[in-house]
Amino acid sequence: MADRSVLVTGGNRGIGRAIAEAFVAAGDKVAVTYRSGELPDGVLGVTCDVTDTAAVEAAFAEAEAAHGPVEIVVANAGITKDTLLLRMSEEDFTSVLDTNLTGAFRVAKRASKSMLRQRKGRIIFISSVVGLLGSPGQVNYAASKAGLVGMARSMARELGSRNITANVVAPGFIETAMTAELTEDRQKEILASVPLTRYGQVEEIAGVCVFLAGPDASYITGAVIPVDGGLGMGH
Ligand code: NDP
Repeated sequence: MADRSVLVTGGNRGIGRAIAEAFVAAGDKVAVTYRSGELPDGVLGVTCDVTDTAAVEAAFAEAEAAHGPVEIVVANAGITKDTLLLRMSEEDFTSVLDTNLTGAFRVAKRASKSMLRQRKGRIIFISSVVGLLGSPGQVNYAASKAGLVGMARSMARELGSRNITANVVAPGFIETAMTAELTEDRQKEILASVPLTRYGQVEEIAGVCVFLAGPDASYITGAVIPVDGGLGMGH
């Protein structure tokens, strides 16, 4: 299982960083895309903005020159621009879609090129419970995260005969910078709706990604795996 070529987008902080660290701990060769900040130990950092197709291509070229064809890709990079529908500008909507959905498309499309040649691959999208349940003030974000489900399932159908799986991880509320920004009232409200009565930890998302990339998940594709403390009750 070890020594595989893995690429994680947005691996400099939060959930992506924990995912990168988990693959490093599993003994894999891990490339991490980043735009800023510091990288975890043991990874190859490649600068990349996922809204830029040429930058995605260059990041894969650099990662593959160092580690060989990418076998496992985790499309994790994401942003929020929350506001109520009537106040949401078209730019608020399209920029979130461009990063979270089209960005993941750019990354998965480029990854599939290497995977098709190798006749194996694991594509993992980091979605959100919000994509499945909806959330006030997050029309743009929820649309982008729901879009990942249809995209992954289409890829699962298109690439399955080549031994490539495409799955979605849907985190609930995870303790990161993104959740730290929420007001105290909103935090209380959220925790009241989580059966496990706590936030998730980034390692709990990372572990599921390592599982989906591993031999025990070889017959899982097109799945949405909720890691949300029961918030969505399996959706
Ligand atoms: P963070 O805000 O901590 O990290 C986001 C990461 O995405 C950063 O590495 C950031 O890079 C990167 N990123 C953002 N935009 C771009 C871009 N255009 N090109 C390249 N990289 C980019 O978020 P989290 O760790 O909390 O979230 C990670 C993923 O998990 C996201 O997709 C998020 O939607 C999802 N998620 C998070 C939940 C949570 O509770 N935290 C819940 C459900 C889903 P940089 O540092 O350079 O900005």
